[in-house]
Amino acid sequence: MTTSNIRVVLINTTHPGNIGATARAMKNMCLSDLVLVSPAQFPSDEASARASGADELLESARVVDSLDDAIAGCHWVVGTTARPRTIGWPTMTPRECAGQMVEKAGAGNVAIVFGRERMGLTNDEVDKCQALVTIPGNPEYMSLNVASAVQILAYEIHLAGLVAGEAPADIRGLGSASRSEEMERYYEHLEQVLIQIGFLDPGNPRKLMRRLRRLFGRAGPDNVELNILRGILTAIQQTEHWRKPE
Ligand code: SAH
Repeated sequence: MTTSNIRVVLINTTHPGNIGATARAMKNMCLSDLVLVSPAQFPSDEASARASGADELLESARVVDSLDDAIAGCHWVVGTTARPRTIGWPTMTPRECAGQMVEKAGAGNVAIVFGRERMGLTNDEVDKCQALVTIPGNPEYMSLNVASAVQILAYEIHLAGLVAGEAPADIRGLGSASRSEEMERYYEHLEQVLIQIGFLDPGNPRKLMRRLRRLFGRAGPDNVELNILRGILTAIQQTEHWRKPE
């Protein structure tokens, strides 16, 4: 997973403790690229204390003067906001955002931008983002502590990275065309067996195969699992007991 391409940007952070807590949250979730836009106080003992074992992340953090400098070289920038913003701006859930972020990080640098403790992001800053993400919560109290917001998004990014990285190599290596052919062959085999055992009446199939397709489509079996399923079908075909007497 290309986590080194995922940058966390904090804008004008007032409390150094929040910078430290952000560093800790990032290290916990395997992120390492932290950029600070004009923090009120940095470096600071309070930041180091809150970073706990993540001080090296604070040491390597870059301090810049503007959001433009912070996101230089990023081909996708997401802003975080506690409240609905500019009408029509695409707003994602943390999970959607993390999925896209991990995918886009495969093609180069991406950034996620966090606003000021009091005021969040300005409209000009939002304009520099291609999308927004809001952590859902109590509609009457939506504003999280900034480092808590970093923690939640960093966790989702880590999770999305694990899911992407954990897909078995044989699925990842298999083009979607050959994958759907494999699935088609499985469905043919399944249908044939269901007819043979008298579970599916070809004269009145109803929606059985469609429902089974939906079920297996949702499960998304990998190649090893598909081989097991086909093996079961073959084993059924090799047993005698289900055959109706002549
Ligand atoms: N009053 C400010 C809140 C700032 S909270 C506002 O209305 O925007 C400080 C920062 O924490 C925000 O700029 C954002 O980066 C992050 N944050 C807080 N709550 C969030 C939420 N529910 N969803 C996404 N980001 C959030």
